[in-house]
Amino acid sequence: MITALEQIVADNLARVRERIAAAEARYGRPAGSVALLAVSKVQSAERVAAAYGAGQTTFGESYVQEALDKQAALMDLPLQWHFIGRVQTNKTRAIAGRFDWVHGLCDLKHARRLGAQRPKGSDPLSVCVQVNLSGEASKAGVNPAAVGALLDACRAIDGITLQGLMTLPAPADDLTAQRRPFAALRALRDRLATPELSLATLSMGMTADLEAAIAEGATMVRIGTAIFGPRPAARPR
Ligand SMILES: *Cc1c(COP(=O)(O)O)cnc(C)c1O
Repeated sequence: MITALEQIVADNLARVRERIAAAEARYGRPAGSVALLAVSKVQSAERVAAAYGAGQTTFGESYVQEALDKQAALMDLPLQWHFIGRVQTNKTRAIAGRFDWVHGLCDLKHARRLGAQRPKGSDPLSVCVQVNLSGEASKAGVNPAAVGALLDACRAIDGITLQGLMTLPAPADDLTAQRRPFAALRALRDRLATPELSLATLSMGMTADLEAAIAEGATMVRIGTAIFGPRPAARPR
């Protein structure tokens, strides 16, 4: 017996997988080259379990305490957790201990803390540097001109491994406008990649713009609404 909620989440996931496959085909990307991160922030553990039941194993969370509660509730499932929110200094120990990836690294001090606080014996924490391509000071992310220096400094840090770049552009309606920041992230990655540091991951694309991101080379799209429905206004307790 599968519940109504499990059915809805499974149907939504199937539609998202179809969108990804269609965009891969349309834009000449190899089938299966774009990973799907299910963004479960503000959604219940029950919904995460439903997505797991439909074959999804990687989940993105933005709020540390909420994520820890959900992880505890879902301890028996073999899930991989990605932290996609703003890294705060007083949360680095929990992030280093309980997550597999961090997508929004913006600060060398945080990188040092995450590396030092990564439990010994764990694989290094996978990290993407977040790039601010809109130039808005209020938005998180590193200025493109400063990304190279941050990457250089991070390379020496034990306990983290640099996977690539992430961006979260301002919403735009049409495909051409949506593609612009994603193309810029890819160009930046191509300029900064070296044989020793391939920066293979481009974490970009959400519910509204995943096709544009895949057109420009996304390797991981972060999808919440299309899988779980609109987010409840308040965080679940
Ligand atoms: C919430 C969030 C998403 C998912 O957005 P949707 O539009 O619901 O798909 C992706 N990335 C980040 C960083 C987010 O905070």
